[in-house]
Amino acid sequence: MSYGGEETYNDSHRAFLQAFMARSTMTLDEAKPVLAAISSVHENREILPADITSSDLTTWISTINSAISPLDLEIRSLTHQTSQARVFALVNTTSDALTQLATTYTADEIAFVKRVLDAMFETNNTARSEAMVVSGMQAVQLAKVSGDNGNGRRRESRALAREDGTGSTGGAAQPLSMREAESVMERLVQEGWLEMSVGRNYMLSPRALMELRTWLVDTYNDEDDEAGNERIKFCLACKEIITVGQRCPRRQCPARLHDTCAPRFFRTQQSQACPTCRTEWTGENFVGERAFAGSSGNRGARRSGGGGGGGGDSSSQQQMDG
Ligand SMILES: [Zn+2]
Ligand SMILES: [Zn+2]
Repeated sequence: MSYGGEETYNDSHRAFLQAFMARSTMTLDEAKPVLAAISSVHENREILPADITSSDLTTWISTINSAISPLDLEIRSLTHQTSQARVFALVNTTSDALTQLATTYTADEIAFVKRVLDAMFETNNTARSEAMVVSGMQAVQLAKVSGDNGNGRRRESRALAREDGTGSTGGAAQPLSMREAESVMERLVQEGWLEMSVGRNYMLSPRALMELRTWLVDTYNDEDDEAGNERIKFCLACKEIITVGQRCPRRQCPARLHDTCAPRFFRTQQSQACPTCRTEWTGENFVGERAFAGSSGNRGARRSGGGGGGGGDSSSQQQMDG
């Protein structure tokens, strides 16, 4: 017996869609009790969460997606880069997340969010250290409008320079207070745009990666970058954006793989060589916050001696200079 709902969109689907709107994302395990409750009412008998299968969920979602596509909405899914859970989110297919945030955040708050994204994908995403996270301390410092971006020169937010009509009306962004910056970060976590990493840094959530995919590529990857120099990179195996995972030991090589995609990938190609440059892949060179460890520069607070910058600094891997 399957509980995929009927193929015609009905009140049950509407109820499930409402459950989706009430929370930012759902995994299969989170969807099971919701679908069981809705199915129980619809069929007027008790259906248990354990009765709901992954293929039931797929059927529900495909019926809902047919109904909501004229509204430019779609339920999409992405594998969480560290927990490996399949995460489902209701995504707006025509406007990016920043445009949506503009309806509930002020223009100055949006400008702050863009400075946070610049810090993740520019300041903390260099050839030496692709951390792609920000610490709470760094986020609070971004409450200020402009200043030193780490290269010793003042510059406008790259995200703002690519103004896409969200928020700013041409006036210069005003700074937030530190308290306001903290509260925006808290809201972004609550609303499912950001999440805390193992090492207590802020990183983009699966929902943000799904909604911002195109925007991130348009904003941070230059068309005239040489191949492989793009700031936003994709896992060679699953083709999704990678912000946590492994990199090729050869620094100039753009090959990246998620931690869980890597073993499967090398088993399939029956060799431990990087598919791009044939360097032996050690699995000890990282993207994500683990890139802070062993990074020898680029962070404001450089320590002398034994490595060790940001959180999650548990490994002391050798960084090979290319
Ligand atoms: Zn992958
Ligand atoms: Zn390589």
